Amino acid sequence: MELMAKKLEVGRLMIPVLIVGAGPYGLSLANYMSAMGQEFKIIGKPMELWKKHTFSDASLRSEMATSEIAHPQNAYSIQNFRSQNGLDIGKSSERINVREYRQYVDWVLAAIPYKIQPEYLSNLSQRGDCFQAELESGEVLKAKQVVIATGVAHHLNIPSEFSGARDIMHSYYTQEIEALQGKKVLVVGAGQSAAEAMEICRNNNNQVHWYARQEPRYYSEPLDLPKWIFNLVVKSAGLFRRLPHGLIQYLFSIFSATTMTPDHKVKLAGVNRFSTLPDLRNYDHVISATGYNYTLNHMNFLADELRSSLKMRAAMPRIDKNFMSSMRDLYFIGPSTEMFFGPPMKFMIGSQYVAPRLSKLLSE
Ligand SMILES: Cc1cc2nc3c(=O)[nH]c(=O)nc-3n(C[C@H](O)[C@H](O)[C@H](O)COP(=O)(O)OP(=O)(O)OC[C@H]3O[C@@H](n4cnc5c(N)ncnc54)[C@H](O)[C@@H]3O)c2cc1C
Repeated sequence: MELMAKKLEVGRLMIPVLIVGAGPYGLSLANYMSAMGQEFKIIGKPMELWKKHTFSDASLRSEMATSEIAHPQNAYSIQNFRSQNGLDIGKSSERINVREYRQYVDWVLAAIPYKIQPEYLSNLSQRGDCFQAELESGEVLKAKQVVIATGVAHHLNIPSEFSGARDIMHSYYTQEIEALQGKKVLVVGAGQSAAEAMEICRNNNNQVHWYARQEPRYYSEPLDLPKWIFNLVVKSAGLFRRLPHGLIQYLFSIFSATTMTPDHKVKLAGVNRFSTLPDLRNYDHVISATGYNYTLNHMNFLADELRSSLKMRAAMPRIDKNFMSSMRDLYFIGPSTEMFFGPPMKFMIGSQYVAPRLSKLLSE
């Protein structure tokens, strides 16, 4: 009965803009729209990746200045957070640790002047000239424009070669990994998540082996470039699709390579690394730190008809220079748009390009 009543509400409430996802991209967009007095609704678990799926004892990879939730007056800078909390404001090039970053996130979430509905979208379909969004609670919303900012959660990549493992978990499940004690663990991967998983597991008295086909590459990401070049890459995200193919390949090789920060070279010196796959049956757990694979088919909260009608490029919907897919009023932002706007979209800094532009377009 209650569900029926909610369904009957459809048609009365037309949301001008529904933002699906409350991570750095969704929130940054919401901040710009809110500052412009635009009407919108935002759903998703607030900063879920940062609160639940990063290792508490790690540091962010990006620097302070490139890890902030965007706002037109830069109201939510980490330096503002520090000074309002009586902390030393530090240098904008510092790498902040995850525990402090979570406090910063809570400070932002307490300050924003709008509500986030902390729920997942379970089905989005097109209905005439608008969208119908069904939430997990059964609530149904009607929206004129929809922005998909669902980040990494639907795209965990676990290669099939590990299917013989007794227990396999993706590195996204950091809390489960942090709980392992005294186990025999194989960590797979050559990136930062593999390095952090190994460090946490070793500190928790697990026996850790490592499988990475190649020696890792070490550098501090994303800024191992002169600052002005990095800023240029971010500011020119809109030109990315017009760059010569060779330059695009070069930028991907710098920003998208699997790397770990140089401090791990020393920290991991004593870990036994295999370059061919060891017998998985010898391990209590295999941790697959094998990244993310952005594919529209993983976004099962989009109705089949909607998904099948989108024009594609590789495995993701093709989006234009205004972030719009081939379906009018349906937008995609965040890491899955890397191939259209360049490697900065994989990082929080990309939201500083997206939020001011998209908020303006949505208000037109
Ligand atoms: C372990 C790890 C460490 C990283 N470290 C850094 C770093 O140091 N610096 C950096 O710049 N980048 C880092 N990144 C990259 C990071 O993915 C991006 O910077 C950023 O978090 C992406 O923001 P987002 O808003 O697109 O997505 P996310 O942060 O993934 O947020 C997604 C949002 O969508 C919501 N959502 C998901 N599905 C649904 C649904 N069906 N309905 C409604 N809402 C939904 C979630 O609840 C969440 O609110 C890291 C990534 C990982 C995985």
